[in-house]
Amino acid sequence: MAYTVPKLKSFSAAALDKAAEKLLAALKQESAAVKTEADWKSFRDRWVGRKNGVLTEINELWLKAASKDAKREVGQRVNELKAAVTQAVDESRQGAATAVIRAGVSVKASSGAVVATLAGPESLDITLPGIRRPLGSEHPVIRTMHEIVSVFRNLGYSVEEGPVIETDYYNFEALNFPPNHPARDTQDTLFIARQESKPQRERLLLRTHTSPVQIRTMEKMKPPVRIVIPGKVHRNDPPDASHSPMFHQVEGLAVDANITFCDLKGTLDHAMKALFGSSVKTSFRPSFFPFTEPSAEMMVSCFICGGSGKRGSEPCRPCKQTGWIEILGCGMVDPNVYGFVDYDPKKVSGFAFGMGADRIAILKYGVDDIQLFFNGDVRFLEQFG
Ligand SMILES: [Zn+2]
Repeated sequence: MAYTVPKLKSFSAAALDKAAEKLLAALKQESAAVKTEADWKSFRDRWVGRKNGVLTEINELWLKAASKDAKREVGQRVNELKAAVTQAVDESRQGAATAVIRAGVSVKASSGAVVATLAGPESLDITLPGIRRPLGSEHPVIRTMHEIVSVFRNLGYSVEEGPVIETDYYNFEALNFPPNHPARDTQDTLFIARQESKPQRERLLLRTHTSPVQIRTMEKMKPPVRIVIPGKVHRNDPPDASHSPMFHQVEGLAVDANITFCDLKGTLDHAMKALFGSSVKTSFRPSFFPFTEPSAEMMVSCFICGGSGKRGSEPCRPCKQTGWIEILGCGMVDPNVYGFVDYDPKKVSGFAFGMGADRIAILKYGVDDIQLFFNGDVRFLEQFG
């Protein structure tokens, strides 16, 4: 016959012990009968169900019915029974219900004496391995971003972040992009839908670079400014081995009196040595960005082949056998940009740089497809744990 929670005639220790013993015996029997998921569900509902579960019943029939004097004693037993029942329900789900019962769920009287023990014929073997819970770890791209950020933090830079959904003003206009610059095209930029009625500068988009944070920071902070900006950005690129519509950048900005291109070169050369090893060399070649003038692309000597272009007799793929890897874009902040943030271009100067964290992670870890980072395949990600 199925167990039902009895009303207690007496709340004496002996009566409580007896009632607890019966309840635990029923718990043991019923949890042992759990074989399937459906069994377990009805087992769970019967014991811990909010409406008519056994736990609810002992609360009503035992705890609430107890006299003021007996409340403490009864409350303690009820709590112990609750723990035993909850544990049995949890364990039976993992097919391990019997382990708990075998190990012996005991309920102690207030005197400390064990009043009911459900020891089965087998005892618990404590030398068996436990259930290992896998620990998470940093995603390789996030780890790379943290490494880059910490290099600049050590140089006294502070970290700034900004919104991923930006306005055209911060993403383009204040960064000196001319009105019809191709980057504003929907071919390149993901715009939020139904913005056509707004003036262009207020239209919302997914930021295409972390540079808007430079503007936002200069708006609220007077020079000297030394910041590093890690963040997620989006472009309208179909996914392939080297492109993803979502990727990560780390950008930096330094503005002060008398900052020169020498400071830019020295800072970035130091950063690359800190990131890739003290033997890497850096090289700059002219480039163009709307918000810097002059602009440059920086290359580092290939840290995979040591600049030789070869790995043994094989050609070095990451540097395309050139011995150099293009790693970031940089330049002196265009004086026009200062006009947007109320800085005096006659008094201050500065440099900015930006790099793709995913690309650096790809090079660092020898990954050949950027999609692997974002597919969420644990087998791939586990390798970096
Ligand atoms: Zn190489």
